[in-house]
Amino acid sequence: MGEKRNEMSRRSFLFNAAVTGPLLFVLGPRVLKAQVEKAAEGEELIHYYAMGIQVNKCIGCGRCVSGCKTENNVPKDPFYFRTWVERYIITAEGEVVVDSPAGGMNGFQDLNEKYSILRSFFIPKLCNHCGNPPCVQVCPVGATFSTKEGVVLVDKDYCIGCRYCIQACPYGARFLNPRTKTADKCTFCFHRLSQGLVPACVEVCPTKARVFGEIGVRSSPLTRFLRFNELQVLKPDLNTEPRVFYANLDGVVK
Ligand code: SF4
Ligand code: SF4
Repeated sequence: MGEKRNEMSRRSFLFNAAVTGPLLFVLGPRVLKAQVEKAAEGEELIHYYAMGIQVNKCIGCGRCVSGCKTENNVPKDPFYFRTWVERYIITAEGEVVVDSPAGGMNGFQDLNEKYSILRSFFIPKLCNHCGNPPCVQVCPVGATFSTKEGVVLVDKDYCIGCRYCIQACPYGARFLNPRTKTADKCTFCFHRLSQGLVPACVEVCPTKARVFGEIGVRSSPLTRFLRFNELQVLKPDLNTEPRVFYANLDGVVK
């Protein structure tokens, strides 16, 4: 037990060493710190996962979207996604245009002269595996739950397909699977994590725009990402405690 406590203290220390610094003044690390403390509360030392996204590295190729579909047997139709990519276009007039044809699965066509473009960029999205998940709170049968590793999952044997969680998710991350008639969404490829593998979207990304790992573990690539980037989360005002952290996120992104 003492050894476990020591290990937990060590984890807290490593976390502090990893993310405490000038970059802490943005939102993400404050949320992160609370989450690591939550992870260390238990009796056992556990893995505690999160994802980082380097927005300026995403080229909108969509390989993550199609890789996810293949890995997780997501229906092929172009409106069911566990992860998707949005393109933001900011025009010279200040208009913000967002498109995501087929979830970005096949990439994006070049922009034409239709817009006078100030800037454009791609934003990969997925379930944020919230530390304070509204989807879990509204599920009437406990089919949606958070694992001790900080991953939000759906037990399809218990899910009654009522769609409450789909409506409650402020990120549009859930859908009703037409085959199983149950709620579906990203699992951080939970089945791969137990084999020591990263999620499929992370593995196939050619530019390493997606980073995955354990919070508070020095050797995790995520630790470097958290240490050296200004972090943002989506819809921070909702207090959902997202565990998908963005670097170089433009303020117009919703
Ligand atoms: Fe639930 Fe949506 Fe948060 Fe994922 S992003 S944990 S589905 S509320
Ligand atoms: Fe962006 Fe990587 Fe996905 Fe391609 S695979 S769209 S670069 S996140």
